[in-house]
Amino acid sequence: MSGNDHNIHDFDITLICEYFSSMDRQGPGSQEATQKALSFIGDMHEGSRIADLGCGTGGQTMVLAQNTPGNIIAIDLFPGFIDKLNDNAQKLNLQSRVKGIIGSMDKLDFQLKELDLIWCEGAIYNIGFEKGMNYWNKFLKKGGYVAVTEASWFIEEQPKEIFDFWNEAYPEIDTIPNKIAQMQKAGDVVIASFILPETCWINNFFVPGIRAQKIFLDKYKGNKSAEEFVKYEKHGAELYNKYKEYYGYVFYIGKKI
Ligand code: SAH
Repeated sequence: MSGNDHNIHDFDITLICEYFSSMDRQGPGSQEATQKALSFIGDMHEGSRIADLGCGTGGQTMVLAQNTPGNIIAIDLFPGFIDKLNDNAQKLNLQSRVKGIIGSMDKLDFQLKELDLIWCEGAIYNIGFEKGMNYWNKFLKKGGYVAVTEASWFIEEQPKEIFDFWNEAYPEIDTIPNKIAQMQKAGDVVIASFILPETCWINNFFVPGIRAQKIFLDKYKGNKSAEEFVKYEKHGAELYNKYKEYYGYVFYIGKKI
């Protein structure tokens, strides 16, 4: 079997989490992109309630905390990521405003209309964009904001190889106008959207990935599942380089009406 025969859902979640724990970000993104998205969002103050869903080890959580007042609850399913996030918050002296907790983005323990801002970079795909947008909207105050990144097609028609890859990995990938329409239907005015630059993928995700792959393969020498996972990750990077004009991550920023 080659790495090309797998899709991400085939792999052992504990192994995947260990692999990604050694990286500062678990998906494409950057400090600049987080700050740019934040620049569209006004009115945050010390009492603001912010949720960062699918936060991973908290790359974007720390940028948020350093650039907004308010309290951030960061939620992720994987305990190892949350431990790392809380350690990082402590190191940056943000622990009074940033709390990482274990939980699922589809079972939120907030009051209805409690939140001023919901943030989610590279993670809404876990429950699906439409479902996530509709469910999360209930927890936002009127006038509250939602900011997410989501895999999106830039062009209506795609070459079969990349269409098939995404159809396996995340069939809800769609064009930017369709994603915007889904947000609007969920009850948000879409105030901005922008494509994440290539550096978010290459410098901040694939390049650190090469280091993570080396550490991982040294540790799991001979482990078929670990080797197949690394092949899958490499294949993803090759496809991105080949087809990056067709797709990427897009930041979508909405305001609840
Ligand atoms: N936001 C981070 C991590 C993105 S990777 C970044 O951009 O770097 C996707 C994250 O979603 C992983 O950390 C994974 O553990 C988390 N995740 C997967 N399913 C989830 C769920 N149902 N609820 C909360 N987090 C989830």
